[in-house]
Amino acid sequence: GAKANGRNCARLFDPNDPQTSDESENIAALLKIAIDQDLVSLVYQPIRDLSTGRVDAVEALMRLKMLDGTSVPPSLFIPIAERTGAILDLGRWVIRVVCLELLTSEHVPVVSVNVSPIQLRSPGFAASVASILGETGVAGSRLAFEITEGLEMEMHSDILRCISDLKTLGIRIWLDDFGTGFAGLSWLRLIDFDTVKIDRSFLHDCDTPKGKAMLRDIIGLVRNRGHKILVEGVETEEQLTLMRQFRIDHVQGFHVGRPAPARSFEPPPPSDRRRTRASPV
Ligand code: C2E
Ligand code: MG
Ligand code: MG
Ligand code: MG
Repeated sequence: GAKANGRNCARLFDPNDPQTSDESENIAALLKIAIDQDLVSLVYQPIRDLSTGRVDAVEALMRLKMLDGTSVPPSLFIPIAERTGAILDLGRWVIRVVCLELLTSEHVPVVSVNVSPIQLRSPGFAASVASILGETGVAGSRLAFEITEGLEMEMHSDILRCISDLKTLGIRIWLDDFGTGFAGLSWLRLIDFDTVKIDRSFLHDCDTPKGKAMLRDIIGLVRNRGHKILVEGVETEEQLTLMRQFRIDHVQGFHVGRPAPARSFEPPPPSDRRRTRASPV
């Protein structure tokens, strides 16, 4: 199984591997007990506003451990959770934990949460979010839901209705991984995203004229439609400089900060405290 691969990570999904179905069944079983057995946790990655220089949001990212402590990467367990439906309980758990964290983290204006199309399509999802907000007393405006453009994500009218219900709760809707699939453009036509996150693959060759031109075009397209732009995967000072030249609104990536447990949320300098509280983003 995953342990044979050594290191501290389960091996990546390979549909031709005879062990794969065993492994994905193991993970499916693990996901059923993960919340009860304390095997899931959240880490948070900072998002920086380039105009103020401040971290004004963090993205919540799920982590899963096997019973022996080995970690399973989200790229492996999220698709399994989506296939088995476990994503519904896990997704509610994520939103509840994030809300509880927000209660004690006044200096973090917004937490963004990845939400699967399976969740958006499941009846009563928006109502369950509303009840978590009600129970915890957290304002919907402190949450952003990230929706990934994906091939499998068809334009169901129930998804659009769900998104409009979430907006009514004050929750911002962001488009994640923009530029990786075919669906992104049609989503832009149908949903008024607050922010569009440009996929980090666009940074790979942004030091070549072709790569830079491609990035400039995609930024122009998103900006002309009135969305704020976040570029994911900023890893170097050179990339950050380019983002400033392009007047990108927000950046996220290892250069800004790695995903880390909640206790490491970056507090603002004391003089900023009133402003941050008065003007959440
Ligand atoms: P995502 O939403 O696009 O999240 C960003 C991913 O890029 C994270 O991987 C993050 O650790 C990684 N990353 C951030 N900055 C950099 C960088 O500078 N360089 C590189 N190479 N990588 C960077 P992670 O945590 O492994 O998550 C992978 C994906 O799993 C996420 O992609 C998201 O689609 C999904 N995911 C994670 N947590 C959840 C969750 O709670 N619910 C759902 N539905 N999906 C989740
Ligand atoms: Mg995301
Ligand atoms: Mg995503
Ligand atoms: Mg992304």
